[in-house]
Amino acid sequence: MTNYFRRARVYVVGKQVMPQADVQRFLDDEGAVWITDTDNPAHRIPELAGRICYMSFGEKQGRKENAPYLANIIEVGHGSVLEHSVISLLFTGISRSLTHELVRHRAGFGYSQLSQRYVDETEANFVVPPAIQGDTALEGMLKDLCEQSLKVYGALTDRLAERMAAPQALVDFAVKEGALVEQPGGKFFMPDGDGGGKTLAEWQRLAGSDEATQKQLKKLTIRARRKSAREAARAVLPNATETKIFVTGNARAWRHFIEMRGDTHAEAEIRALACDVCRVLQKEAPNLFGDYVIDRMPDGSERTRTIHRKV
Ligand SMILES: Cc1cc2nc3c(=O)[nH]c(=O)nc-3n(C[C@H](O)[C@H](O)[C@H](O)COP(=O)(O)OP(=O)(O)OC[C@H]3O[C@@H](n4cnc5c(N)ncnc54)[C@H](O)[C@@H]3O)c2cc1C
Repeated sequence: MTNYFRRARVYVVGKQVMPQADVQRFLDDEGAVWITDTDNPAHRIPELAGRICYMSFGEKQGRKENAPYLANIIEVGHGSVLEHSVISLLFTGISRSLTHELVRHRAGFGYSQLSQRYVDETEANFVVPPAIQGDTALEGMLKDLCEQSLKVYGALTDRLAERMAAPQALVDFAVKEGALVEQPGGKFFMPDGDGGGKTLAEWQRLAGSDEATQKQLKKLTIRARRKSAREAARAVLPNATETKIFVTGNARAWRHFIEMRGDTHAEAEIRALACDVCRVLQKEAPNLFGDYVIDRMPDGSERTRTIHRKV
C-alpha cells in the first residue's frame, strides 16, 4: 500500500556529550574557575569555546549564566563559536525535490541519504506538495502519476534484470565485480572457483550452455545486476518520491538553514521542514535558537524570522 506523506517526520538522532572530568582537568591545569548555569552540552560546549578565546574565567568571567553569554555571541555575530555545537537530525517523509535543495547547504553539514541504487523502490512512498494537499482532483492526478511510475519502474527493473542475466552480460558483470579476475596471458579465473583460466569468450559460452556455471555467475553478480537495473529504472520515479536523509549540522549551519529555508520565498515543503527543525532545535538548545519567531501566514503556512541573521 503506497503512503502519501503530507508533513516531514523529524527525529533527533545524535547529540554531544561534554566529558566533565576532562573539562575540570583543563580548568585545574590553568588554575581557572568556570561558573555557568546549564547542564546542556549543546550550550556548554560553545560557551567554553567562546571563553577560551579570551580566557574569560574566574575574575575575568563577566556573565555567569549561559543564556546571556550565548545571546551576546549571537548579537555580536561571533558565529564560529556556534560551530562547536553539533546535532544530528533524521528526516523522513520528505521528497527527493526537497533533498535536492537541502544538500545545497554545504558549510557545516554532513549528509547520508537513502540510495535509490541499493534500495528497491518498488514499494516507494510519495510526498504530496503543500499546494496540492486537500484538492481532491489535483491529489488524484498526482497519485495516478505516482502509481503509474511505480508500474513502469517495476517493469523496467524486471526487463533490465532479465537482460543483465544474458551470458555476455553475466560475464561482463563478473569481471566488473572482480568475480572473474584476469591473469597474465589473457585468461580469467574465478578466485574462489576450482577451474583453470579461460578466455572471456569461453566463459561466455559456458554461461550460455553450462547450468552450474550460469548459476554461479548469477549468484556472484546478483547485487551488481540489481544495482544497475535500479539505477536506470529510477529515472522514471518523480521528484515527489519519498526519501530519508540523516543530517548532521553545527548550530551556525542549522541557523543559516532555518533562515534561508524558513523564509517566505523558500519552497513550501522545505519551508515547513525549516519551521519544524526550528521548533525541534529551540527545544534542544533554546539558548542557541530562541531568538527565532515562527509566524503563521495568511494561507496557513509558516515562516521563520530573527533579527540576528547569518551570525
Ligand atoms: C528562496 C531560494 C531560492 C533559491 N533558488 C535557487 C535557484 O534558482 N538555483 C540554484 O541553483 N539555487 C537556488 N537556491 C539555493 C541557494 O543558491 C544556495 O545554494 C542555498 O540556499 C545554500 O545557501 P548557501 O550557499 O548560503 O549555504 P552553504 O553552502 O551552507 O554556505 C553557507 C555560507 O558559507 C559561505 N560559503 C559557503 N561556501 C562558500 C564558498 N565556496 N565560497 C565562499 N563562501 C562560501 C557563504 O557565506 C554561505 O552563505 C535558492 C535558495 C533559496 C533559499
